Amino acid sequence: MEQRFDVAVIGGGPAGLIGALDLARLRRRVILFDGGRPRAAMIPVSHNYPGALEGMPGTRLLGTLREQLGRYAVETVHAAVERLDTREDGDVEVRWSGGALAVPAVLLATGAADIEPEMPHLAEARRSGHLRYCPVCDGYEVIDQRVGVIVADDAGLGEVSYLRQFTASLTVLLVHGHRISEAARRSLRETGTPCFDTVTQAIRAEGAEVIVPHAGGEFRCDSLYCALGMRVHSGLATALGATADAAGYLEIDPHHRTGIPGLYAAGDVAQGLNQITVAFGGAAIAASAIHLDLRARGR
Ligand SMILES: Cc1cc2nc3c(=O)[nH]c(=O)nc-3n(C[C@H](O)[C@H](O)[C@H](O)COP(=O)(O)OP(=O)(O)OC[C@H]3O[C@@H](n4cnc5c(N)ncnc54)[C@H](O)[C@@H]3O)c2cc1C
Repeated sequence: MEQRFDVAVIGGGPAGLIGALDLARLRRRVILFDGGRPRAAMIPVSHNYPGALEGMPGTRLLGTLREQLGRYAVETVHAAVERLDTREDGDVEVRWSGGALAVPAVLLATGAADIEPEMPHLAEARRSGHLRYCPVCDGYEVIDQRVGVIVADDAGLGEVSYLRQFTASLTVLLVHGHRISEAARRSLRETGTPCFDTVTQAIRAEGAEVIVPHAGGEFRCDSLYCALGMRVHSGLATALGATADAAGYLEIDPHHRTGIPGLYAAGDVAQGLNQITVAFGGAAIAASAIHLDLRARGR
């Protein structure tokens, strides 16, 4: 099999783009596979992006990173990688709909996806900032607001507790047909947190407010958080035998190596602290480790 590349980077979000950039600048021959739906593209405006005083929209961030990467000889394939295999010679075989190639190292930066409520106009609600996904990122923006949190089980209530740091006005919106435990309901009563069984399909925005109908009437708030969990895109690695934690995040060492020789991971696929800066930092550490490990292998 032809060997034109030192590293395949899988994923064209912040982690993959910075990983590819750093590797290209280390004079590594890089091929980038971009499946095309980065979570970062869903950020209306990030207010914790370093140096962006007026905030940074996700699409602008990605556009700038792609332009920066475009200055280097990195080959980009706009397709999803379907399968990885380890070979006897220590290389990793990468397969996609357009072909296959073998590389000494792979940086997996495939991210994760939010499990979303079924509702029309979801994209508009996200774009307008009415519907939020990441209190670590933007809890600061909802200080003292009326906030509703969409949950489907007890696990989602962790986000309600986390949000208390930012506002006392919290309401739980339980997705129709789902349940929380009696203990969880008791704890919500004790903290004075209303809980409505809702039909999320009927959520609508009206001016600056979001309106959620429920059996007893309508709930109005300033912002909604979705706490339905994440689907981590770690399948390519776990199929090779890499280990993931209970939430699906890949386990990595301090240099971002998975347990599989030649396979590294960075960004949301490997770290539960889902942040752009964490993705950048992880990708930089992984790129440096890949470069040094390849040198140690005489490549
Ligand atoms: C609404 C919202 C607001 C947010 N706000 C902030 C914020 O203000 N600040 C902040 O720091 N973070 C924020 N985040 C989190 C941030 O978007 C993520 O932490 C960041 O995008 C992670 O980067 P990543 O490269 O790991 O993953 P992603 O951005 O998801 O990119 C992963 C890429 O891998 C590709 N891919 C997946 N599988 C394959 C495959 N098999 N083959 C090829 N490609 C594949 C995907 O198509 C995607 O393009 C927010 C997230 C959301 C949803």
